[in-house]
Amino acid sequence: MPSSSLPDRMSVTVVGSIAFDAIDTPFGARERALGGSAVHFSLAASFFTEVHPVGPVGDDFGEAQYDVLRRHGVVTDDIEHVEGGQTFFWRGKYEWDLNTAQTLDTQLNVFGDFQPKLSEASRDSELLFLANIQPDLQRDVRAQCNGAQLAALDSMNFWIESTRDSLIKTIRGVDMVLMNDAELRMLTEEPNLVKAAASVRGIGPRVVIAKQGEYGAALFTEEGFFALPAYPLETVRDPTGAGDSFAGGLMGYLDSQGGTLDDATLRRAMAYGSTLASFWVEEFGCERAERLTRDEIDERFEQFKRITAIESVPTT
Ligand code: AMP
Repeated sequence: MPSSSLPDRMSVTVVGSIAFDAIDTPFGARERALGGSAVHFSLAASFFTEVHPVGPVGDDFGEAQYDVLRRHGVVTDDIEHVEGGQTFFWRGKYEWDLNTAQTLDTQLNVFGDFQPKLSEASRDSELLFLANIQPDLQRDVRAQCNGAQLAALDSMNFWIESTRDSLIKTIRGVDMVLMNDAELRMLTEEPNLVKAAASVRGIGPRVVIAKQGEYGAALFTEEGFFALPAYPLETVRDPTGAGDSFAGGLMGYLDSQGGTLDDATLRRAMAYGSTLASFWVEEFGCERAERLTRDEIDERFEQFKRITAIESVPTT
């Protein structure tokens, strides 16, 4: 909970995809689920703080989609409607190894020539998350939010392959990088994750967090290393959005703590991120967010503490 010394109204701004997703997993399928990195992030972070997503949508994005965001208190003023345009579309498939999404189609649509113009409220957020999207666009938003006390970034293979130099330039301007372990290895061309994280920290960011799917997440900072398993679930239907909801829970919690970046706060933030991701994957897209409550989140966070605690006993 925020302490009384924190400012009254903290908020997070996020730029990333706002999408319709076609998803196919061994447990079912959806043809047009509400998705996109900024949407998953915003819904997850909304359990902790005020969130301002930035990005364009087309004519196919209607009141039903805005309602999902608004019901969670997400501020939609910087979602720009592009007349005559189509919303970003992604088609992905998962086989029995749910850790790896196979991208079958990516249509940037309205993102093709989007030029963000942030409102004052979005520019004033203390925390900024550059969710997975074209790195030039991430840098444009970073420049507009130059007062943010903490900026973090995510990316993926699609952008590493097509816009690598631009992505490295963007990484130079952030404090924290959160990426999949495989994508950190790909970006740095370094198979050893410890070396890959050190190499990213060498570019500029103080903190690197490697997301490791069902194996959890690892933290690399100046102070050292920390790792958390994923929450042990019996039901996993769709991993889409796991990475973004992890980032949303983590950044939302950090915002509620005034944006502190010490290791103890980061560890708790990772546990909140993992908690959010664990709920997300229980259902398709962001469907689980609809029924999720802060009490359920806090209860699972407590269980997280229990399953990762090691007690000392006298050895003599
Ligand atoms: P994740 O949290 O990593 O599972 O991300 C899932 C979301 O990423 C989906 O809702 C997609 O709409 C979105 N996505 C997929 N490909 C891209 C891309 N190239 N750029 C931005 N967002 C994407």
